[in-house]
Amino acid sequence: MMGRLVSYDPSSGEPLGEVQATPPEQIAGVVTRARAAAREWRGLEAAERVAVMQKAYERAGTRKNELAVLLSREMGKDIRRSTGEVNWVTRGGPRMAQSAAEALRPRDIGHGARLEYHPLGVVAVISPWNYPLAMANNFIAPSLAAGNSVVLKSSEETPLVAGEFVEIMNEVLPPGLLQVIHGDAEQGRALVESDVNMIAFTGSREAGRDIMARAAPCLKRLVMELGGNDPMIVMGDADIEQAARFAVANSFENAGQMCVATERIYVDGKIAERFEKRVVELAAGFRVGPWDMPDVDIGPIINAAQHGKIVEHIRDAEAKGAGVPLGGSRQPERYIHPTVILGMTPDMLVEREETFGPVVAISRYSDIREAIERANSSTYGLGAVVFGGPEAEAVADELEAGMIGVNQGVGGGGDAPWVGAKQSGFGFHGSPEGNRQFAQLRVVSR
Ligand code: NAD
Repeated sequence: MMGRLVSYDPSSGEPLGEVQATPPEQIAGVVTRARAAAREWRGLEAAERVAVMQKAYERAGTRKNELAVLLSREMGKDIRRSTGEVNWVTRGGPRMAQSAAEALRPRDIGHGARLEYHPLGVVAVISPWNYPLAMANNFIAPSLAAGNSVVLKSSEETPLVAGEFVEIMNEVLPPGLLQVIHGDAEQGRALVESDVNMIAFTGSREAGRDIMARAAPCLKRLVMELGGNDPMIVMGDADIEQAARFAVANSFENAGQMCVATERIYVDGKIAERFEKRVVELAAGFRVGPWDMPDVDIGPIINAAQHGKIVEHIRDAEAKGAGVPLGGSRQPERYIHPTVILGMTPDMLVEREETFGPVVAISRYSDIREAIERANSSTYGLGAVVFGGPEAEAVADELEAGMIGVNQGVGGGGDAPWVGAKQSGFGFHGSPEGNRQFAQLRVVSR
């Protein structure tokens, strides 16, 4: 991508602003500057680095309303959700920095050996648009706390809010420590192939594969948080109301544009009719509209390509005989109204691929083995949930995912790792183990 990068309001298609796309040939210079900044930064004590970072997050916190409005306008999520995301970053950032510093303290392991965690150098953070600040900061915080510098390649869909956030942080951070470059996959590829030491990527599996291949010649360190196609199993003794509420809310969260959104549901045939009826009732109550509409639940879809993909998945299900009691493939521009698909089968796109839209797709099972098999039949393995009585635990044990929820959603909260299994991830962040992936482990024997 060359020239100006225009950012559009996904609810109207109106341009919101523009930035200069970083010419790929300038990226080497950005990385050189980042390396010089990292040399100074690594000379500080960990506690000093954390203190500087805390001040930077505090500064961003003073502008949280402005950041939240910009996030909403550019990405489309409602103001309550964007405020939550900004708070996650500005309030959670200091805690993340502190936890990382603690995880990276040197440790004696006996026999005169000591583990040390040294900075890697320059970390390329490449982030998606669905949580443009949270996803970027989940990698920025542990990278900086470990004594590295960061070059952020924000999503081409959300350059304004990323640029604004970095600018505010830079009122406090030393020059060159956190820089942003703008552009699309072209700039992303140039950054991956530049002289960075590590690539921390959140985005699609397809881009992840390309990044891994391009990082291979120099064996660059990688942390990759990739896509998902999360299953949910609803057992015969599940609390139907609780399961239906979760199914709808988690399929529609962030307009379904969430990596751990529920994408496919397997429900025991014995309770299926009641479950499906309740899902349709609940889904029908979700309100669709722009970010500033009062009580809105489902915002616009980020762009026409993503909208087209969701419609294609629904149309494919319709063509293959699914029942669609709510929504369907006839949708307005920019939005997808809540859609419920019944009778999902393994050949349908909604079962096989990541839809990333406000769609609940349900299939009935008569044998729990079949449900587990279909839940695991994906090459993805980000999250998986099971709702049911005491036997839900045994089912949970068999689910192939990095994050499992039993009668609740996934993700441990606090400093829990955010981790994908199979092709949903490679490395992870969060928790002491996650934080340590942003540093070079050294064993020093004396
Ligand atoms: P995407 O892969 O299209 O883009 C992500 C970022 O990578 C963007 O900044 C893009 O410009 C850049 N990029 C694209 N191709 C590249 C390449 N070949 N080399 C380097 N950079 C490249 O993803 P998206 O559409 O922005 O985000 C949606 C995807 O992200 C979904 O698959 C979703 O599941 C996933 N996601 C995963 C998590 C997680 O924690 N596992 C969180 C959020 C989103």
